[in-house]
Amino acid sequence: LVEITGVRKSFGATEVLKGVSLTVEPGGVAVIVGPSGSGKSTLLRTINHLEKVDGGHITIDGRLVGYEVRGDRLHELREKEILKQRTEIGMVFQNFNLFPHLTALENVAEAPVVAQGRTKEEARRRGQELLDRVGLKDRAGAYPRQLSGGQQQRVAIARALALDPKILLFDEPTSALDPELVNEVLDVIRELAKSGTTLIIVTHEMGFARDVADTVVFMDQGQIVEQGTPQDIFSNPQEPRTRSFFSKVL
Ligand code: ATP
Ligand code: MG
Repeated sequence: LVEITGVRKSFGATEVLKGVSLTVEPGGVAVIVGPSGSGKSTLLRTINHLEKVDGGHITIDGRLVGYEVRGDRLHELREKEILKQRTEIGMVFQNFNLFPHLTALENVAEAPVVAQGRTKEEARRRGQELLDRVGLKDRAGAYPRQLSGGQQQRVAIARALALDPKILLFDEPTSALDPELVNEVLDVIRELAKSGTTLIIVTHEMGFARDVADTVVFMDQGQIVEQGTPQDIFSNPQEPRTRSFFSKVL
């Protein structure tokens, strides 16, 4: 269970998250949509403490992200603890962010050895399974430069899964892809959604959002303006800002 409560974040004088609250149930799929600059990426980055919140808090399965309570005050966790916590929160970025000097399999098998103390053999066996799962059985030995964008992104998804995260975050996972490669990546994410992985996805792919989301969240200017089922949000939006946004993108 992911609980985001009253999260605030400023950069300098600009408040980019103005008290955001959102709950995602175990196995739930929340899709966040909204205009550029509305704070979608910043919100995702607070969930794994890549950005520190200025107010409010986030818990995953009841545990505070990035902080612990001592006495009656919040103290930031030590770096080591933060890194450990981050292994429970997978993140997939727009630009894949694979290690260029490692093969697909090495990219997937690296973190379980370094962060979880798995043996190399174990990590490679599991890594190969995950590459099979994302449809890349035969590309384990390829380097990122030898793979298409869609294949690289599928490796990145396998890599995120390798640590058995409690939750996976996607920030516009298909925005950097040529149009003909978008679906192969969305299909993998659809599969994850069906298999009960808890997902929070920022995307501009509205058809996909409608398919895959339990909850669609519309953000504008650092706030959640409206959230609901895809039916509610796409077919019957209540707020003028939501209507105006969809009239431009749908
Ligand atoms: P997009 O759809 O373009 O990706 P977004 O909804 O993801 O937009 P954010 O990237 O979260 O928006 O940015 C929200 C606001 O915060 C923007 O005005 C952005 O310029 C600002 N911002 C984000 N990161 C930083 C930073 N590290 N330093 C200063 N300002 C930042
Ligand atoms: Mg963004």
